[in-house]
Amino acid sequence: MPQIPLLAEVTTFLARPHGSYIEGTAVLGDDAPFHVINPATGEPLATLNSASQAQADAAMQSAQQAFAAWRDMPTLHRGTLLLKLADKLAEKREELAQLESLCSGKTIQLARMLELDQSVAFLRYFAGWAGKINGETLDVSLPSFAGEKYTAFTRRQPLGVVVAIVPWNFSIMIAVWKIAAALVCGCTVVVKPSEYTPLTLLRLAELATECGFPPGVINVVNGPGGELGPALIGHANCAKVSFTGSVATGNAVGRAAAAQGKRVTLELGGKNAALFLNDLSVTEMVNGIVEAGYLNQGQICAAAECFWLPADKIDAVLQALKTRLDSTVIGSPLDESTAMGPLANRAQLEKITALLATARREGDEIVCGGEAIAGGGYFLQPTAIRVASASSTLMKEETFGPVGSFISYDDPEQALQNINASPFGLAASVWSRNISQALRFSERLEAGIVWINMHTFLDPAVPFGGSKGSGSGREFGSAFIDDYTELKSIMVRY
Ligand code: NDP
Repeated sequence: MPQIPLLAEVTTFLARPHGSYIEGTAVLGDDAPFHVINPATGEPLATLNSASQAQADAAMQSAQQAFAAWRDMPTLHRGTLLLKLADKLAEKREELAQLESLCSGKTIQLARMLELDQSVAFLRYFAGWAGKINGETLDVSLPSFAGEKYTAFTRRQPLGVVVAIVPWNFSIMIAVWKIAAALVCGCTVVVKPSEYTPLTLLRLAELATECGFPPGVINVVNGPGGELGPALIGHANCAKVSFTGSVATGNAVGRAAAAQGKRVTLELGGKNAALFLNDLSVTEMVNGIVEAGYLNQGQICAAAECFWLPADKIDAVLQALKTRLDSTVIGSPLDESTAMGPLANRAQLEKITALLATARREGDEIVCGGEAIAGGGYFLQPTAIRVASASSTLMKEETFGPVGSFISYDDPEQALQNINASPFGLAASVWSRNISQALRFSERLEAGIVWINMHTFLDPAVPFGGSKGSGSGREFGSAFIDDYTELKSIMVRY
């Protein structure tokens, strides 16, 4: 099928000069220019100028100035604005999906269904919390000495300015998780997108202004994370950092925030496992593996990368998986029939090809794929690797790509122990028709979220976040309230 035609709004937006979005206005960056590269072609799509340190400071000042009025706005009005933004994103679904697909290499179908439709769903979910973020009344335990009485209550008070740092794999959706959660609590935000995908959030910020969000409530600062990140985190107005990204950067962000007494939430990567129990058919296992490991070219933090299969089924599963993966329709993300687009950037392709070289050196067997696809873009064949042992590098290091590592087990208890030996614990899944057995494994798998007979389903009502080295704090559900509010206690003698 041919590529879909780009909307005029998309080509016009790409042709505009870009920078950051501060105080309700698009501003050109004062610092060095950088290109946004189309990963499907390797060609530049747009040029931005990085924000200077002075512009980062202006964004933080703007968010601080907007904070008091936003905090004091009736919660109903805050919720209504979030609903308006949800409606606006739904209206602009195709424009934003095309823009995101161009910048990230995500297939247009996925950009529509995940980036946009999920962003709309999350915005509506968080809007529903407006007016429901409350403290509680408490019975005081103090004795009364002279007939006096005591009571106490708590309030949930917004923290202030939130610095939201987001990666390139779902740049709209992950930013929306943070923006919506912060805003409904009464905080204001300064978002720092990835350098690879800086455009769609600029458009989102413009649309928010069209919806009536006051200037300064949502700011977007673009430029190199290594320079702007520390400036934003270290800024006197930063009350909280919400970071999603790699383990290495996240740990540096966590240290910087902690050193300055800033609240911080870290949503990091890891090495997620999927455990298939022996009661499933080969076809059921293959369907599960493709769902768990290969969506968005595997560039999903919660995707499974290590697959534990019963010893008497692994050969048949890998053979059927090879047939399935070899027939994957790989191509332009803007072709609606494409199932797999390019990796999002050259650095990602280089990182994965280096890991594949390591796998070969260590004696892992490349069952299928394993090669970059020649041409202009950053395409990689969907890959399955039968690892030599549980200590292979590919069982430990995140590829963040369409690369599954497969290993057999004789005893599922042993597989569980191996999975739990990982220093990471973002997500895991267990697959079986025996729900009782699957539930028992889910209780003992060490991960922030465990799916049974599914993988990578994120729902706004269900808390999400990592355990062990995969981060701290939880997004979604009601858990987000802790992260964006201060719990204040008020005691009264009467
Ligand atoms: P990075 O950690 O490289 O970057 C994430 C963000 O941090 C980017 O905006 C980046 O900006 C910024 N940044 C870079 N250096 C600093 C710094 N010193 N201080 C503050 N911010 C900085 O991650 P990727 O963008 O490469 O994303 C992929 C990673 O994200 C994977 O490891 C994946 O597992 C993880 N991830 C985790 C998720 C979760 O919910 N747990 C969800 C999605 C992804 P710049 O681009 O300009 O360098």
